Amino acid sequence: MQFYSTNRRSAPASFREAVLGGQPDDGGLYFPAEIPQLPSSLIERMASIPLVDVALEVIRPYVGGDIPDDRLRQIVDETLSFPLPLVALSERISALELFHGPTLAFKDIGAGFMSRCLRYFGGGSGRRTFVIVATSGDTGGAVAAGFHGVEGIEVIILFPKGKVSRVQELQLTTFGGNVTTLEVRGTFDDCQAIAKQMLADAELNARAHLTSANSINIARWLPQQFYYFAALQQWQGAPPVISVPSGNFGNLAAGMLAARSGLPVSRFIAACNSNDVVPRFMNTGSYDLRPAVATISNAMDVGSPSNLVRISEIFGGDREQLSSAMAAKSYSDEETRRTMVDVYSHCKYILDPHGAVGYLAIDEYLSANGGRGIFLATAHPVKFDVVLDVIGTQGNEPESLADLAHKPKQSVEIDNDPSAVRDMILAKL
Ligand SMILES: *Cc1c(COP(=O)(O)O)cnc(C)c1O
Repeated sequence: MQFYSTNRRSAPASFREAVLGGQPDDGGLYFPAEIPQLPSSLIERMASIPLVDVALEVIRPYVGGDIPDDRLRQIVDETLSFPLPLVALSERISALELFHGPTLAFKDIGAGFMSRCLRYFGGGSGRRTFVIVATSGDTGGAVAAGFHGVEGIEVIILFPKGKVSRVQELQLTTFGGNVTTLEVRGTFDDCQAIAKQMLADAELNARAHLTSANSINIARWLPQQFYYFAALQQWQGAPPVISVPSGNFGNLAAGMLAARSGLPVSRFIAACNSNDVVPRFMNTGSYDLRPAVATISNAMDVGSPSNLVRISEIFGGDREQLSSAMAAKSYSDEETRRTMVDVYSHCKYILDPHGAVGYLAIDEYLSANGGRGIFLATAHPVKFDVVLDVIGTQGNEPESLADLAHKPKQSVEIDNDPSAVRDMILAKL
């Protein structure tokens, strides 16, 4: 399969080239030259086929032989090494729990697949690879978990000191080994600026292979289709409405790609917090970017969502087709908090703030339009301290956390100073 740039000014790339390159030079995003159509026999029999086999059928046309089938199966198998249960909260609404992986959020799936692809493609190249990740909390841990212990790869995580949750900090600071965690005395934007500067540094690039493991990489984007198939494997009845808590819109774009390939979904809902660029665009047609505002569902605090262009591309830029396939809604923190309280008191189900936005969107949609549906529970409630404040409990701590609490903290506190990071990378060469 070839991947073209959505800006159409860069040369097309193979799967391997697109994974290693990350983003086309023209600033667009890679998009598959064609959207594979899955055989209807696969869709019909899906519930009786192991998820790994379904996932392999989904991803194989995109990889197009750049990874041999037995290795690809192993990568898919390792990526899907934890359960993705669909939990019914009521007759109408089910939660697809995507938080049973190593860092308790859905990014484990994309990051796990991508790290294994990079590992496969990087093997034997001889040059040291540095994966530089700026994180506001969720991404850094998922990427580091994917690369931890991998020979030839050094991971540098930058996070804003004191601005991540207790559990996120535990996850970010207890890897050690080939993962170096830097607590920057600054904001997430400062961390991102440092990461960008390192990735653009000519001397560093001459001496090592630097990559961002960015969320727009196709190896993080495409495997997110897997769990929509997992949802439908566990679903009975007419095609569901699916609500996706959205920030950068990669997750939703993957679901819509899966539907375009033949997965039966009645409609998608983009569930957003107060960062409402996409809902405003869907409802008024005007696409104006605004700086991100801080909310309690902070992994969705994105002012300029990268993957919207991919969603548009799926429909060949046709606004009408897009509108019939997807609705979009924005909710305030107050509405999110109220939903967490309501769902806990009625269903005894603990929502994290991201899942709560997803729940609210599907509940409102189904109340108005009828039908049944699914929302994606994108993170474990234990990851967000606000859950304790709002509903008084975060539920049972997963066992993996108890282990982390016993590990020594391994992080370095630094000023908001790119040269400190640069020196640290040079010292590792
Ligand atoms: C990243 C993230 C999101 C947003 O996903 P996008 O693909 O960026 O839209 C939602 N919820 C959680 C918990 C996340 O970590």
